Amino acid sequence: MASGEMKNIYGLTLDEIENYFLSKGVKKFHALQLFSWLYEKRIYAYDEITNIKKEILNSLSLDYSINHLKIVEVQEDIDACKFLFELEDSEHIEAVLMYHDYGNSVCISSQVGCNMGCKFCESGRRKKVRNLEVHELVLQLLMIEEYLKKRISHVVVMGIGEPFDNYDNLKKFFQIINHPKGLAIGARHITVSTCGLVPKILEFGDFPLQINLAISLHAPNNEIRNKIMPINKAYPLEKLIPAIKKYLEKTNRRVTFEYILLKDINDTDECALELANLVKKINCYVNLIPYNETNNLEFKRTKTIQIMRFYDILKKNNIGVTIRREFGSNISAACGQLRSNKEEL
Ligand code: SAH
Repeated sequence: MASGEMKNIYGLTLDEIENYFLSKGVKKFHALQLFSWLYEKRIYAYDEITNIKKEILNSLSLDYSINHLKIVEVQEDIDACKFLFELEDSEHIEAVLMYHDYGNSVCISSQVGCNMGCKFCESGRRKKVRNLEVHELVLQLLMIEEYLKKRISHVVVMGIGEPFDNYDNLKKFFQIINHPKGLAIGARHITVSTCGLVPKILEFGDFPLQINLAISLHAPNNEIRNKIMPINKAYPLEKLIPAIKKYLEKTNRRVTFEYILLKDINDTDECALELANLVKKINCYVNLIPYNETNNLEFKRTKTIQIMRFYDILKKNNIGVTIRREFGSNISAACGQLRSNKEEL
């Protein structure tokens, strides 16, 4: 545990609770009961549990806390709602809920800070302090559902941090939120976004749940990508693209390429054509992201007319393409604008 304290019950998958109970000589079926108290009945203390013996609960409480996260600030907009959480070691993280016609999606953070160093990204200005623990991933969702009394139908791991740099915790998180007795969020309604950690993309091809993969591509060639995404030096396109193809062979699931349009950097007609050629043989679609300018970084947003030209070029070349709708711009909850440090808010 990062905080050096007791482990938290929301960090355990159902299998892990079963194994824990078995190791204590407790019958396995109690695990499902406990899971249901945590995620269906939403208790805040073990003594609310009525169908498990007190001595089992006492011993459980010595090994696992049932602490929730503290919500320290909520900012509401018409289309989005931003939450600031305080962790047990006093670090802060953010998550954003977005209202869509198809349901409510939440964008969560995966790390405190981020080490990937993408030049255009505001969130990554603070270096990684630590990975989020499994319970910290799960509780972002549980706390938001409880606070708003609304069900979350979709989850995107696109907040602060590089999720594939916290892969083991991420996998357990997926298992817990996808479980029918957990938060019961369908795998196809969950998306993880990576800047391109090739070994993890390959591993993710073997992960048993049908979770969506998005790749932050942001450039049609190595020259541009090297300038804006340091990770490209470790995993350049000639490694990234084959890894994505292998992932597709294994999963048969369409991937999303995210492409932020940065004025005069990656937004020319030539870039659009080069991008079309790069991805045309891949089962994918491209999500064009209008850049959110920040005060601290010099990048500029591409004008709408050029965004449309870029879009048209991809379309004409038979690439599936969408332009990302922007949420929460009044509360700086937009993409890449989450910040991991309360003092910076
Ligand atoms: N590390 C992961 C997930 C977090 S970033 C990744 O790189 O995919 C989530 C998305 O927001 C990425 O596509 C990122 O490139 C994008 N992003 C970062 N800063 C942005 C900004 N200022 N405007 C728009 N999108 C941004």
